[in-house]
Amino acid sequence: MKISSIEKLINWYKKNKRELPWRDTNNPYDVWLSEIMLQQTRIEAVIPKFLLFKKELPTIEDLSKCDDDHLMRLWEGLGYYSRARNLKKCANVLVKEYDGKLPSTYHELIHLPGIGPYTAGAIASIAFNEKVTAIDGNVLRIIARIYGIKDDILSTSTKTKIKELLEPFYVSIKSPKDLNQAWMELGQRICLPNGLPECKKCPLNKECYTYKNQLFDEIPYRHALKSRKVIHRTILIIRDHTRFVLHKRPSSGVLANLYEFVGVDEILNRKEVLEKVEALGFSANHIKKLPSSKHIFTHLEWHMDAYEIQVSQIKELKDSSYILKTKKELENFAIPSAFKTYVEYYALRD
Ligand code: SF4
Repeated sequence: MKISSIEKLINWYKKNKRELPWRDTNNPYDVWLSEIMLQQTRIEAVIPKFLLFKKELPTIEDLSKCDDDHLMRLWEGLGYYSRARNLKKCANVLVKEYDGKLPSTYHELIHLPGIGPYTAGAIASIAFNEKVTAIDGNVLRIIARIYGIKDDILSTSTKTKIKELLEPFYVSIKSPKDLNQAWMELGQRICLPNGLPECKKCPLNKECYTYKNQLFDEIPYRHALKSRKVIHRTILIIRDHTRFVLHKRPSSGVLANLYEFVGVDEILNRKEVLEKVEALGFSANHIKKLPSSKHIFTHLEWHMDAYEIQVSQIKELKDSSYILKTKKELENFAIPSAFKTYVEYYALRD
C-alpha cells in the first residue's frame, strides 16, 4: 500500500465520518470510556449507555467515587462487567497519581488497569494525536484483505506482521488521530466482518488483493474457535408476596460479585427444585415453570430452565449472600443481561 492510499483513506474519513457523542469532543475521558464500551458491543447499543454514563459521571473523579451498585446499573446491558470494574479501578489510579486526568502517552497509558495495547493506542492517538497504531479486529481484517494475508488472523505472528506493515505510515502522516478513526469507520461501515464487504465504496479498493481476486471466503482466515462450554442451569425465582430473593455471585469467575436470581448449575425437576428451596430455608407454597432461556458468553453458554417458587412470607435470611428486593427496587437494580428473559417476564424494565 502506498502513502497516497493512506491519505485517500483519511480524506474519505473526513468526508464520511458519522457524528458520535464521543467523537471530536477533545475530552480524553470520552475516548477512553467509548473505547471500553465498544469492546464486544455494537455502536447503536453503546450510544445511549455512553450518554447516560456521562450525564451521571461527567468526570473521571465522579467515576472514581461512584458506588459499585450504581456503576453496575449504569453498565447494565453492555455485558462483560469486568470492564466497568476496571474503569473504576483505573479512575482511582488516575485521581491518585495523575490529578484525575488520563496521561497523554502510549507508554504511560499501557500501564493503567484495563488498558491494553489497542485502547492505549486509541487514546494516545485520538485524544493526543500521538503517532501510534491502534490495532483491533477491524484493522486486522482490513489489512489482511488488502495485502492478501492468509495466515491465522488471530495469531500473534500475524498481528506483529500487520503492526510492522502499518507503522511506517504513521511516521509520515500528520494526523494519526484521523487515520486510526478511519480504520475503525471503514471496518464498521465498508469492510464488514460478516457478509460481503462494500468494496465498490471502499477508498482502498484499487490495491486490495482480496477484492481483485474475490477471496472473501478465504481472507481473513481464522482457525476454528474452540467450542464453548455449555452449562445447564436451573434458575429459581423465589418470591414471597412482596419481594424477590437474589443471590450474590462469588468474587471470581463469571459475573463476579453481581446479584442474580438464585440458580444451580444442574437441571432439577420440580421435586428437586422444592427440596432445594426448602434446604435454603424457605417454605414453598406454589411452583410454576417459566420459559427456558439461553445466554452466550465468550467461552461459555448457559442453558437455563426456570421456575417461580412462591414462598411464605420471608422473615429473615440466614446467609448474607442473599438479599430481598421488591419489584419496584429491582427496576433500579443491576441484574446481568444473562437473566434478560426473566427481567422481561416480570416487566422489571421498560
Ligand atoms: S476493497 Fe473490499 S475487501 Fe478490500 S479493504 Fe476495501 S472493503 Fe475491504
